[in-house]
Amino acid sequence: ARLPRAPSNLALNTSRDGASTASLGSLFQHLTTVLVCEEARCPNIGECWGGGEYATATATIMLMGDTCTRGCRFCSVKTAKNPPPLDPEEPYNTAKAIAEWGLDYVVLTSVDRDDMPDGGAEHFAKTVSHLKERNSKIVVECLTPDFRGDLNAVEKVALSGLDVYAHNVETVPELQRKVRDPRANFEQSVRVLKHAKAVQPRVISKTSLMLGLGETDEQVLATMKLLREAGVDCLTLGQYMQPTKRHLKVEEYVTPEKFKYWEKVGNDLGFHYTASGPLVRSSYKAGEFFLKNLVE
Ligand code: SF4
Ligand code: SF4
Repeated sequence: ARLPRAPSNLALNTSRDGASTASLGSLFQHLTTVLVCEEARCPNIGECWGGGEYATATATIMLMGDTCTRGCRFCSVKTAKNPPPLDPEEPYNTAKAIAEWGLDYVVLTSVDRDDMPDGGAEHFAKTVSHLKERNSKIVVECLTPDFRGDLNAVEKVALSGLDVYAHNVETVPELQRKVRDPRANFEQSVRVLKHAKAVQPRVISKTSLMLGLGETDEQVLATMKLLREAGVDCLTLGQYMQPTKRHLKVEEYVTPEKFKYWEKVGNDLGFHYTASGPLVRSSYKAGEFFLKNLVE
């Protein structure tokens, strides 16, 4: 099944030279917002910031600070029970910086803020609406926490005017307890994705799996089927990399051929796109995939 034709205002800018975006990460230097691509020294910057067939520029921005209230065993983000309060100016200032940058596709993500009543949903929603007010053509993806399963929070983000609602299930159901913070689980994450689409059907839903954590092929296949049955539109699969010695060990380095195989399985199952490869991250060339597969 294909998605309905995307509204014409989502046609990305395909003529611009991506090189013009290369040095503009400095726009974020005076903000509390974290530019993930640079902070994580992501190997995909060259491809995301304006490369590729469609010359679309994609970047990932982290809202709400750098300190998470959870502690997943694969993630090196700082954790604390009570991270510093939110910067109320962040939605406006970040939206302004993104709009000035001239990106085609932006992924807004955040740490989990279980210390806040709405988990920061309002903060996400405000950033999206400021951004769309300044640049109605930019495609906005929010990669959100699970909001502890609070569907009102999910709804706030889903109705904010965004285009893609992403939330990562991270791994197969059998490994959730080993990999994610105990407050997260597969079913809750799938409910988040389903609810976002239920309240705003034009929104595209997207999730991500890390491979190499000890999952079996049967478990990966069963998980992909569960996600498709739940109506998830897009899937990315990438290799898990151990960030420090204190984190979960890599159980397996999955071959590029195997990643290609999963891409084919994803396409056969009917995901609108499946991005699969050792270096693929959930935001990997998201603008490019969006344009190629979702805008006719
Ligand atoms: Fe990292 Fe997200 Fe887990 Fe927090 S909830 S520890 S940011 S993966
Ligand atoms: Fe940035 Fe994500 Fe691309 Fe890495 S994969 S460069 S974090 S948008």
